[in-house]
Amino acid sequence: MLVTADLHVHLGQDPAGHPVKIPSSRAMTLEAVVARARAFGLDAVGLVDGLNPCLGAALESWVAEGRAVPFEAGYHLPESGLALLVGVECELPLPGAGQWAHYVWFPARRADLARRLGKALERLRNPCLSTPRLPVDPQEVASWGGVFFPAHAFTPFRGALALWPSLYPPKVRWLELGLSANTAMAAAIPALAEVTFLTHSDAHSLEMVGREFTCYDAGDLTPDGVWEAVFQGRVVANVGVPPALGKYHRARCRNGHFVEPPDLAQCPECGAEVVRGVAPRILALGGAETGSLPRPPYRERVPWAWVPGFGPGRLSRVRRAFSDLAAREVVDPAWFEAEVGRGAGLAVHRLRRGELQLFGGGGGRWGRVVLDEAPSGRGQV
Ligand SMILES: [Zn+2]
Ligand SMILES: [Zn+2]
Ligand SMILES: [Zn+2]
Repeated sequence: MLVTADLHVHLGQDPAGHPVKIPSSRAMTLEAVVARARAFGLDAVGLVDGLNPCLGAALESWVAEGRAVPFEAGYHLPESGLALLVGVECELPLPGAGQWAHYVWFPARRADLARRLGKALERLRNPCLSTPRLPVDPQEVASWGGVFFPAHAFTPFRGALALWPSLYPPKVRWLELGLSANTAMAAAIPALAEVTFLTHSDAHSLEMVGREFTCYDAGDLTPDGVWEAVFQGRVVANVGVPPALGKYHRARCRNGHFVEPPDLAQCPECGAEVVRGVAPRILALGGAETGSLPRPPYRERVPWAWVPGFGPGRLSRVRRAFSDLAAREVVDPAWFEAEVGRGAGLAVHRLRRGELQLFGGGGGRWGRVVLDEAPSGRGQV
């Protein structure tokens, strides 16, 4: 069965009220994330703050109240039908690079998170905080089994392939594309020929839950069924934002100037520090385009919140009637025109056809979407 899963979602505060991911929105509580994921239209969501002891305790109390049914890989939530996978994003040392990179691990048995990493976590002052820095070699985590992948692999600050030119650990089977790249870009890197690409939101606010997700062919909709589909790499499609909008897509200085050539350390225009770009990084890693291997399609989709003309008022009208996904993909534009407001139907029509002007992102700033009165194709990126 087709399952939609966003497996990189943080909490902003844990069920005991402690801050988790900084700077995630404090509105990102367990309850709110589950509700938003369901309202978006996701079937499965993966929480990557699974080492947080308050989260573990809350989920166990949900089990006692009948609100969650425990599985090896996570929890089934009967009220919403959602499969909740429990994993962890952590910062691990990248041998050779002298740097720390972000990795996500979803063990087959969620109990393995604490069993394997609990000791390393004990040394930290605040075990509730997300993405803990743990002195464990990624190779070792990989040897424990489960689904283990570099998070936002190409992004300049903590992306494993931005910090080191080859995959580490070398036999990585999955990789998160990470918002500023798509399948075609990453598939050009010969070393990634055998690697399954995953797309996840890395949401730090409720609105962004589901902005990227992966469609799987899963045996069933339990947490274990979804986990198995990820483990086997049964990806049907990746759905993500157009990479040009990604906040690290191109090299850009701290003041917002795009920088050419992209490997300059300082902006030729203003002298500010240059934040490296994902697109030039992939080119540097990739050499010639390979392009011969069949890959699941990458569907470019702009999140609702970035579509001009869909402010909170209009969006809430849409959301009272439909899931985000249904509205974005299939609801008749005529419904939008009648129920949401003038121009909304046309905007949806253009959104689906990709008739958007995309103004590129970089340097930590997201790109911008403009819906022109007279669309002329994909526009400037
Ligand atoms: Zn990260
Ligand atoms: Zn993250
Ligand atoms: Zn500049």
